[in-house]
Amino acid sequence: MLVMTIPPWVPGHETKPAPLPLLLVQSFVNTWDGEHGSDLLLEPATARDWLTRTGLWGADRPPTPAELDLARRVRENIRAMLVANSGGPPPATSDLQAIQAITEEARPALHIGPGGQMSLASQPPGRLEAGLLTLLLVIRDAQRDGTWHRLKACSNPDCLWAFYDRSHSRAGAWCDMATCGNRIKNRRLRQRQR
Ligand SMILES: [Zn+2]
Repeated sequence: MLVMTIPPWVPGHETKPAPLPLLLVQSFVNTWDGEHGSDLLLEPATARDWLTRTGLWGADRPPTPAELDLARRVRENIRAMLVANSGGPPPATSDLQAIQAITEEARPALHIGPGGQMSLASQPPGRLEAGLLTLLLVIRDAQRDGTWHRLKACSNPDCLWAFYDRSHSRAGAWCDMATCGNRIKNRRLRQRQR
């Protein structure tokens, strides 16, 4: 049984959390809740609160509407990658434009810690692009350590919640079998019966 304390900034009642720091990417994607139609990255005050608690934002001002627009587009770019992880089509170039813009602008800096631990960090702080680059560096590390392909988007097209598939077969398709899994199965059953 997995014992893990869920940080308070994780949206919803997460039953399939990714390990840290990938949990940060999962939570970022889940700032949009399709089931409830809520979005933590829509209003500057709400977004500032959530982004500050995750450590992705440290400036002494709320993010601008343009920064939040970019953040939401990056979020949907990442979601397109998670749909591919769930067995969907690979994202097209047009699905990755916001991430592409950040990778072209961003200048990650290499740091060395007291013990000789090398790490890449985003700079400069004070712009939301830096926090978004931090997420991209987490994705890069997850792609290298093999955990990335377990982070998936729910196969219910009305849901698309990001969940971490810990199953041995890595064949999980639903954020929650009891809700989305059965809902879609019943829908397909009804379609077949018609
Ligand atoms: Zn779902």
